[in-house]
Amino acid sequence: MMTFALSKGRIFDEALPLLKSVGITPLESPESSRKLILGTNRPDLRLLIVRASDVPTYVQYGAADMGIAGADVLTEQGNEGLVQPVDLGIGKCRMSVAVPEGLDYQTLVQRGARIRVATKYVNIARTHFAAKGVHVDLIKLYGSMELAPLVGLADVIVDLVSTGGTLKANGLKEVEKISEVSARLIVNQAALKTRPESLRPLMDTFAKAVG
Ligand code: ATP
Ligand code: MG
Repeated sequence: MMTFALSKGRIFDEALPLLKSVGITPLESPESSRKLILGTNRPDLRLLIVRASDVPTYVQYGAADMGIAGADVLTEQGNEGLVQPVDLGIGKCRMSVAVPEGLDYQTLVQRGARIRVATKYVNIARTHFAAKGVHVDLIKLYGSMELAPLVGLADVIVDLVSTGGTLKANGLKEVEKISEVSARLIVNQAALKTRPESLRPLMDTFAKAVG
């Protein structure tokens, strides 16, 4: 049996057609079903529905053999015990720094003052500002980062941006791109060593489907 971890939410709408294109169709609609383990048309393959940021954890511990995870989550959490053979080219966005529209970001970071950064991605933010030589106080949030600068919780945020619509709606502007983000196929390293005959063909099919 092969177990494949996947999240509902933003990656899902693009992941489902991609799964179909590699010959995997859930037996029940994941949108309407409340089940967290779904059978598929392939008797040897089941899907786990988990939180986006939990996908690498399930695959790292071998509870799932494979999964789809955003590069944002993988960079933030590390990829110990994982291989990332394919960039799936879905869930595209960028990791950026954003500030209130009226704020002069260059001046803020030049004068060497400590800045307060609110983000879900504290490791990515720490690395980014350390490389720029900017001192930061990191404030960990779990969502709605856009709110933080509006109410004085932070000077800047580090968050994912796709259209910029949410930033704009909240009077924020993107001032620095940290990295491009897309979803990756991830595979448990140990499972790949012990059961290459069952995992390799599916990895190759994904590579061909997006190549
Ligand atoms: P939740 O929204 O349930 O708190 P989450 O934020 O981890 O959890 P999603 O919002 O579904 O889950 O995001 C999942 C992934 O989608 C992200 O980790 C990222 O890789 C990708 N993604 C693509 N575009 C965006 C975007 N504009 N904003 C957020 N995530 C995006
Ligand atoms: Mg979200």
